[in-house]
Amino acid sequence: MSTQNLYQKAEFFQSAPDLARCPTEVGSEVAFAGRSNAGKSSAINTLTGNKKLARTSKTPGRTQLINFFQLDEQRALVDLPGYGYAKVPLKLKKEWDKNLSNYLHKRESLKGLILLMDIRHPMQEFDSMMLNWAVEREMPVHILLTKADKLKKGPAKNTLLAVNKSLNDANIDDLVSVQLFSSLKHLGVKELIKVLDTMLELEEPVLINDNLDVMLDDQLDTHENTDQHN
Ligand code: GDP
Repeated sequence: MSTQNLYQKAEFFQSAPDLARCPTEVGSEVAFAGRSNAGKSSAINTLTGNKKLARTSKTPGRTQLINFFQLDEQRALVDLPGYGYAKVPLKLKKEWDKNLSNYLHKRESLKGLILLMDIRHPMQEFDSMMLNWAVEREMPVHILLTKADKLKKGPAKNTLLAVNKSLNDANIDDLVSVQLFSSLKHLGVKELIKVLDTMLELEEPVLINDNLDVMLDDQLDTHENTDQHN
């Protein structure tokens, strides 16, 4: 079975408000995180070909929950609460931070993190916080610079290289990789699937950052910047 089919089999499984109420740990899971409006739901839709899944996570009452989508008996995708949009009291925000931190630090079946950032506003405070937590645990992180269709080829490439350089400078480029992504243009889906396959132990590791130039040319060749939606 091609692994793309596996992601298309994703089904909502369970929601949890905190680590203690997460499903029993079996096998491997990869979590998706991003600030609100980063394009997380759209990316999950694009990956799974299932609009219902992302809607599930946006159902009122579920937006601040950890939502589990099962792929098979051994594997799951996890949608973490969106972040930083709504004005919430500081006390509540601290509680969410604690829940996220607990989940990222202590969930043993969690094998990797997909961190989504709008290409026009990468590496905000939330992103650094998530990166730090993941790196503390030596967990691989893959960054999607989303809505890449919003920028022309040159600026998109420059942002990708700048983010990659900051990972290099921070000495975390062995754990953290980065790519361009656009749900609108279906840009970067293949690369994302490769990374997920590795994190979920379906395939041998790929060294994304080492192949950045090749991948970039590959991606950008098929990338025309005409639309300016949203
Ligand atoms: P979430 O809050 O992170 O789940 O973000 P959504 O997936 O709901 O997307 C937020 C907004 O960005 C919506 O208006 C989407 O239509 C838009 N959006 C998401 N992905 C893309 C993309 O690849 N390209 C463009 N141009 N807009 C996008």
